[in-house]
Amino acid sequence: MTDKTRYIGIDLGGTNIKAALVNTETGEIAAVHSVPTNSREGHDAVIASMAKVVDRIATESGLTVAEIGGIGVGLPGSIDIGKGTTVFLTNLPGHWIDVPVRDLLSKWTGLPVALINDARAMTLGEWRFGAGRGVDIACLTLGTGIGGGLVVNGRLHLGPTGSAGELGHISVDINGPQCGCGNRGCIESFASGPAISAMGMKAVVQGQETKIATLAGGDLNRITPELISEAALAGDRIACEIYEFAGEVIGAGINNIILTVSPRRIVIGGGVAAAGDLILDPIRRSILKRCFLREAAEIEVVPARLGNTAGLIGAALWARNHLNEA
Ligand SMILES: [Zn+2]
Repeated sequence: MTDKTRYIGIDLGGTNIKAALVNTETGEIAAVHSVPTNSREGHDAVIASMAKVVDRIATESGLTVAEIGGIGVGLPGSIDIGKGTTVFLTNLPGHWIDVPVRDLLSKWTGLPVALINDARAMTLGEWRFGAGRGVDIACLTLGTGIGGGLVVNGRLHLGPTGSAGELGHISVDINGPQCGCGNRGCIESFASGPAISAMGMKAVVQGQETKIATLAGGDLNRITPELISEAALAGDRIACEIYEFAGEVIGAGINNIILTVSPRRIVIGGGVAAAGDLILDPIRRSILKRCFLREAAEIEVVPARLGNTAGLIGAALWARNHLNEA
């Protein structure tokens, strides 16, 4: 057991490794660093970069290794929490199957390490210090994929290996599009960032009259969820319909979550959530339309509050919880 409060949180992303020193009592972060992931150089090089960042954070904070409680790492994909290994990381190039990230990083830093899925880390951060304080939540992060996490009965719900809470892969259509996970009709395949962009591209290619085409200047590659939200805010009907559809699908998925674990609040984060009520209102309407076995009006749908720092804070909190109960 240890009563240390300062832990290092790391968020391993496809583009950057972000890391910071986190005060797990207050949620304050310091010595924030971001370095390129360079995943193509292989997992050993990536883990070595993480170790280097840890070293830099300790030096900058004037702390010895003995004064830091440990390191929590949020990873983009499936991991085995008990073994401290990756199972499959979807958005990182290179070979990431069965990599002992926990033991390697621990060996190279001299600190204990705990792994967690990145969206579960965000869930923990938002629950403890952000938009989810004090109640059971379901958290969805809308980006390149749709990540998720659950707090049930006042505890982050992880299942035996940490894979519980993959809310983006709730299927709402048995005949829907094939998803990267192998199933069909997952909400991720309808409403992730790339799925929203694809709907915008389709409208333009079909020659529909939409501001999306004008804003993109004829270049399909410039069509992003952000550009479509700009068109929607300027009153473009097609752009509004795209967000309405994405929100409706996400709301249908959330209704299944409500039926299963009955959260009090739904926290929505990630890049696509930057569209604000443009995506949140259709989600709310969709829940009201579908939720009959519980008072739908009781369930709040709110934006995440901690932005990119939620994952760092959550990873550090996870390290503190997990390393002390192990
Ligand atoms: Zn899926």
